[in-house]
Amino acid sequence: MLVRGLAVGDSTGKPQRLAGSQTDITEKKAAEAQLRYDSCHDSLTGLANRRLFMERLEEVIARTADDKNYLFAVLFLDLDRFKVINDTLGHKIGDRLLVAVARTLESCVRPEDTVARLGGDEFTVLLDNIKGIDNATQAAERIQNQLALPFNIGGNEVFSTVSMGIALSSTGYKQAEDILRDADMTMYGVKNHRNGGQYYQIFDPTLHSKAMGMLQLENDLRGALGRQEFVLCYQPIVSLKSFRIVGFEALIRWQHKELGLVSPVQFIPMAEATGLINAIGYWTLEEACRQLKFWQKQFPGKPSLTVSVNLSTKQFTQTDLLNQIEKALQITGLESRFLKLEITESVLVENADRVNAMLVKMRQMGVRLSLDDFGTGYSSLSYMHSFPIDTLKIDRSFVNGVDTELGKIEIIRTVVGLAWNLGMDTIAEGVETKTQMYQLKSLKCNSAQGYYFSRPLDVKAAEALIAQEREYFSNPNKLEGLEFWARK
Ligand code: C2E
Ligand code: MG
Ligand code: MG
Repeated sequence: MLVRGLAVGDSTGKPQRLAGSQTDITEKKAAEAQLRYDSCHDSLTGLANRRLFMERLEEVIARTADDKNYLFAVLFLDLDRFKVINDTLGHKIGDRLLVAVARTLESCVRPEDTVARLGGDEFTVLLDNIKGIDNATQAAERIQNQLALPFNIGGNEVFSTVSMGIALSSTGYKQAEDILRDADMTMYGVKNHRNGGQYYQIFDPTLHSKAMGMLQLENDLRGALGRQEFVLCYQPIVSLKSFRIVGFEALIRWQHKELGLVSPVQFIPMAEATGLINAIGYWTLEEACRQLKFWQKQFPGKPSLTVSVNLSTKQFTQTDLLNQIEKALQITGLESRFLKLEITESVLVENADRVNAMLVKMRQMGVRLSLDDFGTGYSSLSYMHSFPIDTLKIDRSFVNGVDTELGKIEIIRTVVGLAWNLGMDTIAEGVETKTQMYQLKSLKCNSAQGYYFSRPLDVKAAEALIAQEREYFSNPNKLEGLEFWARK
């Protein structure tokens, strides 16, 4: 039987065309070689496929065990916006682009390196026996530069950039999957957080353990509400006129079983990203309202204490925020005028009309509103008046230094004046020294909050503080009100 043009492998494993007649045995061998070849190569581009690439990786990993100086690198590449090219120019052009990219990649590396197509628009390169990290970054740069040139495909000029992650054998891999996973993860990071023109990045093992830690924390956060791991701390807000406590800000803490107290700065962004913020936000609201209602009964001499609860920007995107507020007040029996909600300038900037309508409704419910961290966001002073805000909380960054820096004094003077003109009052955040406190008082700031008065306290400590305060101020021989805070 005659076989024409059937492929068989040569010594490198690459098939060759056979011309002319062969015996049946040769024919069978040729067919087997073709099958072997097909099972290790990508049919579209002719590059190594995943299977062959993994085999090569295992070989070089084995070599690192024998030779400590032996170094190799894996590049993981993914074309940017390939789907758009496929969708707009058609799959045929898309396929031709993949072939052109394959040839470009081959042209950027040495013959002993392995270029593979894992599938879709994902390619990998094994840079074998390199001298150092520079060889890997140079190859990445060559690839980046070559791919930046347009391809001419069927009369179309097609541009394609690529995102690359690089993993080095020096990290110490035992499994082919592990080095591929790290290169892939790094590529993913490049694609999602592209920093200017940077198309590649080298895997950083410390980032990996950090990322794993974050992932673990995120998993733990999902069950934290159910396990009742959240607690609220309360930081007093003190009037600069009477030096008495006018309210508390509720600040959330997470009691993690292994890590101890986790700061909201760490887990609130995570809660926002996962959507858990809505449930956590509601829990905080109800808990803070319940606590204040309890204190009102416990300390009848302080009937006008307020509680301030922070709202995240993300909570404004949920439709039932207003219902949640109503529900928390109703369940706990707290009158709405004792609840203050703290929002940040970013809430006002994003989706201003919708947010304004929600704020107006909150105000109609009788709840009061504070603008937190004022001065750190982008809200313009000129449109401040269009939002129904009761209180401006001047950010710590202005308060810190108000005793020494003239510029900060002037900023605070201006903000207090502006607030006064708009019918708002002011709270200075982060007051840490007596001098700062006096300066803020002379600048006519209404109230202050900060370590000088007290750190955020757990419920028991907050109750002790209210009781002490009551005793001190009810003493006819009391010294000036400030003495109470100075004594602590
Ligand atoms: P924030 O609302 O501006 O809260 C004030 C932060 O400043 C608190 O940090 C407080 O402990 C800290 N602080 C108070 N006085 C001083 C001071 O004199 N010096 C210094 N250096 N810091 C002071 P904390 O409790 O770590 O909270 C950080 C942020 O986390 C809060 O900033 C708020 O944005 C957010 N947060 C806290 N609790 C919640 C919550 O229940 N829900 C939401 N969405 N966010 C919350
Ligand atoms: Mg706040
Ligand atoms: Mg603040």
